[in-house]
Amino acid sequence: MENTAKQNEALAGEQKFRRIFEDSMDGLILWNDEYQIVDINYSGERIFGLSKDRLFGKPLLDLFNSVEEKKQEIMNHIEQAMQIGKQCSTIVIEMIDGTVKHFDYSTKRRIVDGLNLTVIIDVTEKAKMQEQLRKSDRLNIVGELAAGIAHEIRNPMTALKGFIQLLKPSIKAEHSMYYDVITSELARIDSIINEFLILAKPQEIRYQEKDVCQIMRETVDLLSAQAVLYNVQFYTEYEDSLPFVYCEPNQLKKVFINLIKNAIEVMPSGGQITIMINKTEEQNIQICIQDEGMGIPKDKIIKLGEPFYTTKEKGTGLGLMVSYRIIEEHNGTIQVESEEGKGTLFKIMLPLNHYIKS
Ligand code: ADP
Ligand code: MG
Repeated sequence: MENTAKQNEALAGEQKFRRIFEDSMDGLILWNDEYQIVDINYSGERIFGLSKDRLFGKPLLDLFNSVEEKKQEIMNHIEQAMQIGKQCSTIVIEMIDGTVKHFDYSTKRRIVDGLNLTVIIDVTEKAKMQEQLRKSDRLNIVGELAAGIAHEIRNPMTALKGFIQLLKPSIKAEHSMYYDVITSELARIDSIINEFLILAKPQEIRYQEKDVCQIMRETVDLLSAQAVLYNVQFYTEYEDSLPFVYCEPNQLKKVFINLIKNAIEVMPSGGQITIMINKTEEQNIQICIQDEGMGIPKDKIIKLGEPFYTTKEKGTGLGLMVSYRIIEEHNGTIQVESEEGKGTLFKIMLPLNHYIKS
């Protein structure tokens, strides 16, 4: 009688720990000294996309068959854990569905007799937030530098541009190529400085209630000549009677120009740019700019908006940075969705409330 009570108690205890093991939000894997999987909980199954019964008794490293190139890194982690007792590491893995995930994982040797435990935590969201923080930090520093330097460079540039213009008639034919290089490089420096200067807050910033569709119409008109040159067509769709947005119209126009220019530039043999503006349920104005260009590889999307990140021979890598900054000042966001070979969608969200960061 007493025995059964004890057994029941033990059973209840075991069931309790079973529940804790199964329902833990982190992935838990128990494995033996032969490196075979003894148990894995529900979160673990989800992380690896493999079912429990297919994993029992299998080698631990089988979990990572889909990321062959990471196996060495994981082996090292496990060996170190076995030597020193415990080990914590992080790893970035491209999942089967193509998403990139960040994991913290830690291993403890002999958690109970003959069993070792590895805990895996999905920290993708945290990693993304840290990256955002780093990015905006860098933006602030670049912004401050820009204000100082750009003005200093602008003055000598004006003199250079003026005098080089005066020299033009006296350039000999055989030197005309050098002359062209000098003027085109000067123009390039000029464009970099101009983009830089936008970072330093211009004085005449004036936020006002404006029709975003109107700003977009003006932008499309402005760029239509360049679009024709590249054999690019615009398709636009603006929702009727949208509310006005409290914004700096010239700054917004700058963002639209940057994004549409990029869209034109990724379609050297033509294509369509789709521009849509509508209101979302969350009281945002949503502006979508979609191209049919070559797209952006997954691991490069995170680099967008970094100063000087460019894949173009003549690019400055400042257009997106400036755009991100401006939208940030409007309390909005820019999201990027891209499929390689198909195209890229830039989605700007502008809140319809009146609060603006000062
Ligand atoms: P730049 O145009 O001078 O290179 P940007 O800041 O405008 O600088 O863009 C940075 C980089 O982002 C580009 O060089 C390109 O690699 C990538 N990019 C931006 N927009 C697109 C797009 N629509 N499609 C593909 N790649 C893009
Ligand atoms: Mg650009």
